[in-house]
Amino acid sequence: MSKAKYIFVTGGVTSSLGKGIISASLGKLLQARGFRVTIQKFDPYINIDPGTLNPYEHGECYVTDDGAETDLDLGHYERFLDIKTSQDNNVTTGRIYNNVITKERRGDFLGKTVQVVPHITDEIKNNFYKLGETGDYDIVITEIGGCVGDIESLPFIEAVRQARFELGINNFVSIHLTLIPYLKAAGEQKTKPTQHSVKQLLEAGIQPDILVCRTEHTLTSEIRKKLALFCNVASNCVIEAQDAETIYDVPLLMRKEKLDERVLTKLKLSHKKEPQIDQWKEFLGRLKNPTDEVRIALVGKYVQLKDAYKSIAEAFVHAGAHNECRVELSWINSEELDGDNVVRLLKDKHGILVAPGFGERGWEGKLQAVKYAREDKIPFFGICLGLQCAVIEFARNVLNIPKANSTEMDPKTKAPVIDMMEAQKKVTKMGGTMRLGAYACELKKGSKAYSVYGHSKIMERHRHRYEFNNKYLEQFEEAGFLATGINPDTKLVEIMELKDHPWFVGSQFHPELKSTVMNPHPLFVRFVKAALAFKKDTYK
Ligand code: GLN
Repeated sequence: MSKAKYIFVTGGVTSSLGKGIISASLGKLLQARGFRVTIQKFDPYINIDPGTLNPYEHGECYVTDDGAETDLDLGHYERFLDIKTSQDNNVTTGRIYNNVITKERRGDFLGKTVQVVPHITDEIKNNFYKLGETGDYDIVITEIGGCVGDIESLPFIEAVRQARFELGINNFVSIHLTLIPYLKAAGEQKTKPTQHSVKQLLEAGIQPDILVCRTEHTLTSEIRKKLALFCNVASNCVIEAQDAETIYDVPLLMRKEKLDERVLTKLKLSHKKEPQIDQWKEFLGRLKNPTDEVRIALVGKYVQLKDAYKSIAEAFVHAGAHNECRVELSWINSEELDGDNVVRLLKDKHGILVAPGFGERGWEGKLQAVKYAREDKIPFFGICLGLQCAVIEFARNVLNIPKANSTEMDPKTKAPVIDMMEAQKKVTKMGGTMRLGAYACELKKGSKAYSVYGHSKIMERHRHRYEFNNKYLEQFEEAGFLATGINPDTKLVEIMELKDHPWFVGSQFHPELKSTVMNPHPLFVRFVKAALAFKKDTYK
């Protein structure tokens, strides 16, 4: 049995209460006390992973170094704790069933009827314990997706109940996140939904040790007492989680409420040493006291749902704080952009980012945004599809190849400047088959990219099928659009930059996935700097 101690975080009443942020904040505090912490998420849906989900359904798909397509909460875990997560940190119902069915076909259960209990719950528990068993962690936090009471989460909740029994009470903490609504008409905070939600947990055999209560107002001491009494928890284990100005305040708010101490007491671990969170506080200081401001257009087709570009938005928060600069993101729907309105919509921006994406919708609008940034020398950053847009725009308007296209948008194009890799052409299945995860890239000395990173060997994460077609490389470089980052093994183009432009850089990889509070991504830091310089030059 694993030596790690386990914290399970469930949610009730409604979804979107911020279990991910609470888990990440608690993880941060425990880490800041010197514990080795990881966080994992168990999602009750049937997809094997969120890679095949539309961003509108589920927000961004977060990719880890090992190429796992995961839930966006893993992004929060990495950003808060500055740790690396992997496929083992995100498990869905689909994956659990897939594992069990594979074992069944192999004959592992010969003679037995395969059932939810014990086979599915055993598989869930094996996955609960997997990271803890590596010996790399003192504490493993497990977030259970969805709400208590959902049909889908039942096997997970049952597995948590069994885990408590197996691990022993000194190695197990159950935290339940819930909502305390405020009824304006009655002028009161209401505990009933929480009571019901805890009752559902109790029915499943789980007594929560700690309640974390999302609320718009301060919890009165009467409410705390009432919750404690009716939900069977110590009153000092009723934790207030009031709406915060930024998600990065939450670790400090949880510290104030002593969530970390309560957890450590339950786990019989020492909390004598105060958490070392000075650096975090410094970051917050810079974030909240900007000395300047820039406006950046984020051009994409999923802009109605901000979660679709979660990591990009957060990378700007980190890079902005680093530059003591507030970054105002102006979300521009690429489907609405055309040659007639592009100047009107983008003219007051200090930087233009063309976002990652898939499919043809909004493609031409993105090309218009690139053209404007290139010609008017506005700082430009293209990520993945954003780089591919920059390449096509350059081919059409500078290299004079009017038919230039990506084979993703026009499979029959005569000028496939962006094309599928040979290996990808054989792929027929959709799930988990893109170029995924961390790949090496070598930067050319003297390039902007090199100056940004300060060294030549980098590793960045990918999620795409199409690539720059190296047959056109010479033509591009002669005209001043340089490939300055190359994969040393495959020679695939990873970064391109325009020679005669203050800041026009595109990456085939996703730098946003590696930006954290403590290590803001250098490409974002420099892009914000370029936007600041542009603002000063333009409005001097
Ligand atoms: N659709 C493009 C590709 O598959 C870009 C993907 C992305 O932006 N993540 O190559």
